[in-house]
Amino acid sequence: MAASEAPFARVALIGIGLIGSSLARALRRHGLAREIVCTARTEATRAKARELGIVDQVLADNAEAVEGADLVVLCTPVGTYAEVAAGIARSLAPGAIVTDVGSVKQAVLRDVGPHIPEGVHLVPGHPVAGTEHSGPESGFAELFVGRWCILTPPPGANPEAVERVAALWRGIGSNVETMDAAHHDKVLAITSHLPHLIAYTIVGTATDLEAATQSEVITFSAGGFRDFTRIAASDPVMWRDVFLNNREAVLEMIQRFTEDLTALQRAIRWGEGEKLQDLFTRTRAIRRSIIEAKQA
Ligand code: NAP
Repeated sequence: MAASEAPFARVALIGIGLIGSSLARALRRHGLAREIVCTARTEATRAKARELGIVDQVLADNAEAVEGADLVVLCTPVGTYAEVAAGIARSLAPGAIVTDVGSVKQAVLRDVGPHIPEGVHLVPGHPVAGTEHSGPESGFAELFVGRWCILTPPPGANPEAVERVAALWRGIGSNVETMDAAHHDKVLAITSHLPHLIAYTIVGTATDLEAATQSEVITFSAGGFRDFTRIAASDPVMWRDVFLNNREAVLEMIQRFTEDLTALQRAIRWGEGEKLQDLFTRTRAIRRSIIEAKQA
């Protein structure tokens, strides 16, 4: 598609880390925006974004970036949303769409919702795609291809605005699903947030072991530990904000997980091999379904 017929005239990316920079690259590759501007908190990241040449303009001021933008995408850690939204509210153009890429969704309605002026459309989104790397240099245009993007428009959201955001994600290769924000947070608590918490715990426990054992954990990590270290290398600020902003759903999943872990502990203690084998057989089937769904 030629840039002149791009569906969005000016896209403002607030934050240009792994996700923001991947989106910038993908929008450009598919000609979905005539102009892309971005901001970042630090001059170091802004300089990196300029050097990479993945956007048309890099600014320090979020409010200036959203001026005249028909699409604004928040790509910062969720904990910054309230402040960012308050800062851009008065500069949003009438008819503009505000969306985001945050990993939790009820918090967006709570923190961004009240700042959205009449005539501006809020359509929160979450691309379920990522890596353990951060920063604009780690992004790539193909990150979202074949992955799901979940949209959580609030009740009464403008259907045309929702469709424009959905079309954008489809345009860069994603599958799109729409659901209620509370449901999203529950589903992601088990599919993403709890697995990260478990990985952080295991790697933390290994770190606390005495020095001799710790070095063996690293040497023999191919036994399984290595796979957890990849997840536990994910961005600390982003994940702090995820847990603080999806507290209820995560606490519920931790409770269920703890009960199931206790049941396994009991099965091991009493030599109940059949119980262990039954569970491991069921979990193996889940892995096969993920491969079949092309999400491996
Ligand atoms: P990242 O690589 O750490 O990038 C975060 C960006 O936000 C940086 O450019 C940072 O600038 C900027 N920033 C922070 N505060 C800001 C502010 N007040 N104003 C302007 N820019 C600000 O993070 P990421 O992995 O792209 O994650 C971004 C969002 O995507 C998060 O909400 C996260 O939940 C969501 N998400 C992440 C993944 C993943 O796997 N990483 C997957 C799906 C969704 P500086 O570099 O200058 O500090």
